[in-house]
Amino acid sequence: MSIAATRELIGDAALKFILKEGRDVYNTAHARRSMTAHQKTAVLAMYQECCVAGCGSRVGLQDDHQVPWAKTRHTWAPGMHPICPHHHDRKTHHRWDFVPEPPDPVTGHLRLVPPEDPDHPDNTGTPRPMPPDQPARELNPWD
Ligand SMILES: [Zn+2]
Repeated sequence: MSIAATRELIGDAALKFILKEGRDVYNTAHARRSMTAHQKTAVLAMYQECCVAGCGSRVGLQDDHQVPWAKTRHTWAPGMHPICPHHHDRKTHHRWDFVPEPPDPVTGHLRLVPPEDPDHPDNTGTPRPMPPDQPARELNPWD
């Protein structure tokens, strides 16, 4: 059934879904560098655009590990952000970094600042922002 036909059928009614046989892709991690398709879908559903506050780009989004994969050796959805190529380049090659403060409570966006900014983690002595918790369990990416 098409979305248009479904909308016509239900009108203004509200739908609630109960997922009985789902997979928790958000709280699972795996040892590969890339997100699984399920993890990527979950992260993009949360942001739908570059994670940098004020950017709004939806073109060519790349996967950013909040804590570099080389340090964690796991890929976990809460530690991942979609980021546009421009901001990913700034963060990866020009020492820009996220301000160590909670993300925007509504959008989840983070402030990315250049190395000379007084709020840059290297200038404040504040630890870099970390994902909220560690992964609940390992996920076999081939599942
Ligand atoms: Zn951006």
